[in-house]
Amino acid sequence: MVSVKDKIVLITGASSGIGASCAHFFAEAGAKLILAARRFDRLEQLGAQLEEKFGTSTHLLALDVRDRVSVASTLSDLPDSWAAIDILVNNAGLSRGLNKLHEGNIDDWEEMIDANVKGLLYVTRAIVPGMVDRACGHVINIGSIAGRAAYPGGNVYCASKAAVRAISDGLKQDLIGTPVRVTEVEPGLVETEFSIVRFHGDRDRATTVYQDLTPLTPDDIADVVLYCATRPPHVNISEVLVVPVDQA
Ligand code: NDP
Repeated sequence: MVSVKDKIVLITGASSGIGASCAHFFAEAGAKLILAARRFDRLEQLGAQLEEKFGTSTHLLALDVRDRVSVASTLSDLPDSWAAIDILVNNAGLSRGLNKLHEGNIDDWEEMIDANVKGLLYVTRAIVPGMVDRACGHVINIGSIAGRAAYPGGNVYCASKAAVRAISDGLKQDLIGTPVRVTEVEPGLVETEFSIVRFHGDRDRATTVYQDLTPLTPDDIADVVLYCATRPPHVNISEVLVVPVDQA
């Protein structure tokens, strides 16, 4: 096992769910954290909590990953002490709606593709050159079981996560010959704000998603992410599918 103590870890989508849990796990392991999301108040609360609990140093970024110009400028303007990112957790993402494709809402499609695919690409493009230059680094992308097979109404979200799978594999191949590692973690159902966002704030509908099984917790995924990040440098865990016991 390799320590992440004093490593700089950038987590996108750190304001809730899996991203916030990853922040806790890396903080407990002694990492320094760059926490990014749109809801800055949530990041402030999280940063304060981590500092109090683990003495963690954090650098907070109000960032919409869909904004190409802002991603490039924010990440190229990091203070020197935060610029050498060791681990990037590309976690920001969302689903909107659960509709048949021919009845789908095009704004929802744009939001999913812009955040889940283009946003992940923008952040990766900004960070990986520094990793290659410094000859160290690890990109951990949060994909989904939805990227392996579509389900009814999942169409565009599934396509966006299939893209994350292809991008992760492509990036890994492009980085062969460098020590930079690429991992894709693919969760099944995890109880977070994900379903509330998917159903545009309808909390009752969101709870129906978990009725027939015991969902994963965000900590279950963060545990796997930290495991991948702490393997010896010659070991790359390329892809991990993590599902609740009852999920097919
Ligand atoms: P949450 O809704 O709890 O968290 C999503 C995070 O993404 C939030 O921090 C949100 O922050 C951030 N985010 C969304 N859009 C943007 C944006 N445009 N710019 C920056 N940040 C953004 O859901 P989860 O924790 O469940 O989701 C995390 C990841 O896990 C996503 O990629 C999701 O697709 C994936 N996943 C989730 C599963 C589940 O069942 N929950 C299953 C499989 C994969 P903010 O709104 O503050 O910007």
